[in-house]
Amino acid sequence: MRWDMPILSENSKCAVSLDLPIINCKPTKACSEVCYACQGRQFYRLAIVKSLAVNRLIAEDPEHVARKMVDEAAGRTIRLAGSGELLPQHADLVKYIEKYGGSWWGFTRRVDTHKAMPRLMFSIDATTPASVLEYVRNDIPVSRRAYLRRPGDLPAPMKVAVTFPVHGARTPYTEYVPSSERDCPAVRHLVKGCWACRRCY
Ligand code: SF4
Repeated sequence: MRWDMPILSENSKCAVSLDLPIINCKPTKACSEVCYACQGRQFYRLAIVKSLAVNRLIAEDPEHVARKMVDEAAGRTIRLAGSGELLPQHADLVKYIEKYGGSWWGFTRRVDTHKAMPRLMFSIDATTPASVLEYVRNDIPVSRRAYLRRPGDLPAPMKVAVTFPVHGARTPYTEYVPSSERDCPAVRHLVKGCWACRRCY
């Protein structure tokens, strides 16, 4: 295992992120169609190899990974997971990030992961199964709900904190999605990055 490699990735929207592999995902139909981690730089071979390696390092020693993450973040809030998905067992990693003084925010689409880390935002879309929507309606506060909207989709089927018009290197559809009050301001180019908004923190 390569403990000398950096764990975090850097990008202009989130500052620093933990990018995990898409093998962890349980994608909806819409998510599979427009997944931003399957296009652009996050889909380069080296980025995929790194995400798989990081996934294995977390399984091997989550405390060591968390310490490296906090060091690399250098005070910046870490986005979990910038690509791919968190698994329920990653709750240990999050506890260690907090133990070593790090701060984090992030999203999931997995009910089992959300139950293990309820502070995560939960993402839904127009193809989210009814049983998952029921979980979100009953168990997740509005402040932790996010909606991915493709061109042609209706607005979110419930109150949400943030709507993401589909964006991505191969799916640059933002301009084709009607504006709404809860749109992510970074996707609409109204703020430079998440640190200037913090709605999902
Ligand atoms: S709503 Fe704000 S914090 Fe959430 S993803 Fe968009 S810019 Fe970042």
